Amino acid sequence: MSLITGTDVVKEYVTGGETVRALKGIDFAVERGEFVSIVGPSGSGKSTLLNILGLLDTPTSGIVELDGADVAEMTTKERTDRRSETIGFVFQSFFLVPTLTARENVEVPRLLAGEPKETTRRATELLERMGLGDRTDHYPDELSGGQKQRVAIARSLINDPDLLLADEPTGNLDRETGDVILDEFGNICNEDVAVVTVTHDDYVADYADRVVELIDGRIVSGEGGSERSGGDTRV
Ligand code: ADP
Ligand code: MG
Repeated sequence: MSLITGTDVVKEYVTGGETVRALKGIDFAVERGEFVSIVGPSGSGKSTLLNILGLLDTPTSGIVELDGADVAEMTTKERTDRRSETIGFVFQSFFLVPTLTARENVEVPRLLAGEPKETTRRATELLERMGLGDRTDHYPDELSGGQKQRVAIARSLINDPDLLLADEPTGNLDRETGDVILDEFGNICNEDVAVVTVTHDDYVADYADRVVELIDGRIVSGEGGSERSGGDTRV
């Protein structure tokens, strides 16, 4: 079974009496351990799709299933729980808390677990894995852009997600640092975590298992899930 699938997903935004159709009926499937890169021009619906994959937003119509369960049939609380158990996020602007150290920032999504020692152990281990073992007690303004991004990735992994979503994870970084981050995403996939990134950087395609191209709210290539559909629109 695919980790997450979408069937005929439509997303409309209504603002000031005008309706914008951001996603015009798309089908997709993401498998465990897969590294998918979403590309496309500005305004093509990439962030909208990522928000729907992350259960941060719901489609106007169409079906999204996480582990075979229809997301629309979950209560808000169920959706929130599934999101924190299953999905990690890396945002372009990191959103690190400036008054917390690197290690404390990584711990934040797991504070409610009520296991402070284990959380600290895991946060330290994740930072070491990201090559930041000597920066755990540094504050964000003492870290470079690439280091902050790696803290954000460590934070996204603290709850052992099945799905890691990243919007422009390499956008602010030089190529060399971007390569380090993408290598790390590759390692994460090897642990059966699905990674979905939105990117403008062409070279991300070298790392991804699959590139999904969005144009004007439609997928023009790389939908995925061909093994289960038998349809002729999937590639
Ligand atoms: P991308 O990430 O590819 O640049 P988005 O998913 O952000 O594209 O946006 C797709 C379309 O939906 C754009 O036309 C955008 O203006 C519109 N849009 C996105 N979010 C909103 C919103 N909250 N309200 C109204 N329109 C939106
Ligand atoms: Mg966007």
